[in-house]
Amino acid sequence: MTALNVAIVGSGPSGFFAAELLLKSDSAVVVHMFERLPTPYGLVRSGVAPDHQQIKQVVRIFDKIARNPAFSFFGNVEVGKDVELTTLRSRYDAVILAYGASDGTLIDIPGSTLPQSITATTFVNWYNGHPDYRDFSPCLEHETAVIIGHGNVAIDVTRILLSDHDRLSKTDIADHALDALRHSKVRKVHLVGRRGPLQASFTTAELRELLLGMSNVATKVDARLLDFEPAELAFMEQPVNAALKRNVLIMQEAASRTSDAGCERELRLVFLASPTAIHGSTHVTSVEFVQNCLAGPVDGRTVRATEETYDVSAGLVVSSIGFRGRPMEGLPFDENRGVCRHAAGRIIDTGTDGIAPLYAAGWIKRGASGVIGTNRADAAETVQTLIADRLARVTPRSPMSALNLQSIPVDFEGWDRIDSVERAAGLPTGRPRRKIVDTKTMLTIATGG
Ligand code: NAP
Repeated sequence: MTALNVAIVGSGPSGFFAAELLLKSDSAVVVHMFERLPTPYGLVRSGVAPDHQQIKQVVRIFDKIARNPAFSFFGNVEVGKDVELTTLRSRYDAVILAYGASDGTLIDIPGSTLPQSITATTFVNWYNGHPDYRDFSPCLEHETAVIIGHGNVAIDVTRILLSDHDRLSKTDIADHALDALRHSKVRKVHLVGRRGPLQASFTTAELRELLLGMSNVATKVDARLLDFEPAELAFMEQPVNAALKRNVLIMQEAASRTSDAGCERELRLVFLASPTAIHGSTHVTSVEFVQNCLAGPVDGRTVRATEETYDVSAGLVVSSIGFRGRPMEGLPFDENRGVCRHAAGRIIDTGTDGIAPLYAAGWIKRGASGVIGTNRADAAETVQTLIADRLARVTPRSPMSALNLQSIPVDFEGWDRIDSVERAAGLPTGRPRRKIVDTKTMLTIATGG
């Protein structure tokens, strides 16, 4: 039987889970995965926080998938630049887009484009050693940094800013970030959400680690906001809101702590505040906030601005308010949400005239939500749709021939070489790896140079 040739664009969790499910399906499938960087794993390498090595263990599963003889990795190949999407569609039987949502959203207020008002994407990619962000230099000279948004990415950024150097030096944080954070003068982080404690998007483990698990950090939470009215208490008691209740208990425990004396750093968990302007002339110097109050029913709270405003002096403002995907040429795209338009993972169902249908998986399909495991169920839906489509094998020949790539691809053996060099470099100091952050060096190592 001729195998179905499937191209996957992107090598993060959703791409690898899609590959795994295709290779495990009853159909004979060959998978070729295309990745812009010479390194695989997408957000696991450049998004997951360096002090969360446990989460990164998922790459063991991906590594196993990559060693399947029916799988090939083509790193250093940017679709849209080194090869056109239309070319892939003419050489494969199906193409799955799994290239994520890489653009962070900057808060849209006066002054937000000042230097040192940045998105969480910039900060996270910087500390994780993404080659595109290695030259960024965050201002760590001011005592205070402001993080806007109450999600897990905001927690990651806050934790990295407030962590002891010793703690970070045991991780795979990029050397440039480790060095900059060693000299950081940031002592206070304001983690600010526009709504209240019951509306924050934090997950429990991440919140507990931040509020109760950080050494040398005094945590300030306004206890008055943790005093709930009967309707809110009833809401928290609903089984579906069990995680919310656990979060509140953690916040209450943090608010009642009295043993903060001697801590060198401070975390302020601030609710009901929206930034209205960022001030500064050459760079950020302060953020203006308006105090909000909650409106609407308990299960759908919105906010209303009050008359009360205040300023926070700060040298760095990080917008951690979500991510957007980028459209590729010709892709049906929902500009509001920054995702592909699709039905159960199928973007375009025209598999005619030798042009393969397009599918989507992961953040480019559903938006930036969920944890790594969420991408498996998401990819399963897409793969199920693809298999059910019973695609005609229109490409019995080797799909790579005549792709005419405009770059030298890095195969999985090339990545193995980069991986070995990084791991070996980390060994003397007990770190999991020391990341190479420059593409040219990666390519030299990958090609055995
Ligand atoms: P998120 O969980 O969606 O949180 C976004 C936050 O931004 C919310 O608090 C939201 O507030 C706020 N926001 C949005 N627009 C705003 C505006 N204009 N002004 C002020 N605030 C605004 O997103 P995320 O933190 O980027 O995380 C993305 C996904 O990755 C999540 O599913 C997260 O759990 C996951 N993740 C997981 C881990 C982990 O498991 N360790 C780590 C990192 C990320 P409203 O609710 O009021 O809109």
